[in-house]
Amino acid sequence: MWVKRTQKEIAKLERHNRLSRFDPTLPILGAFAYAAIDCIARWAGVYHGGRGHPAARAIPFDEAILYFPLIFSVSFLVIYFCRMLITPKPLTAGTLICTQCFEPAIKDSQQQCSCGGTREPMYYWRWQKDV
Ligand SMILES: [Zn+2]
Repeated sequence: MWVKRTQKEIAKLERHNRLSRFDPTLPILGAFAYAAIDCIARWAGVYHGGRGHPAARAIPFDEAILYFPLIFSVSFLVIYFCRMLITPKPLTAGTLICTQCFEPAIKDSQQQCSCGGTREPMYYWRWQKDV
């Protein structure tokens, strides 16, 4: 059944949403993936040898892995700071729910439900399994 969240739970969700852009988890995963792909590409010889060496040049894996810390650090910083610039979408921009029949509705729909209930942002509510 649907249960209304307490003011404390709502405040915690809003705080988490506000601070989500400072969470380093996604930038760490993204930077790790990018650095790993970069090392594999160097090892496989995908990159060109540079000026005067137009042919692709494969390098040994133990040499390719030396690029990992640098590529990881730089890509982490780039991803982290780019993500910080993006303001998270406010939770109130999400789906609405009727307070009587609990029918979900899109944000731009009317405040009043056809059942007579009013609509609130869905994050004010949470689903709880019946005991
Ligand atoms: Zn309704």
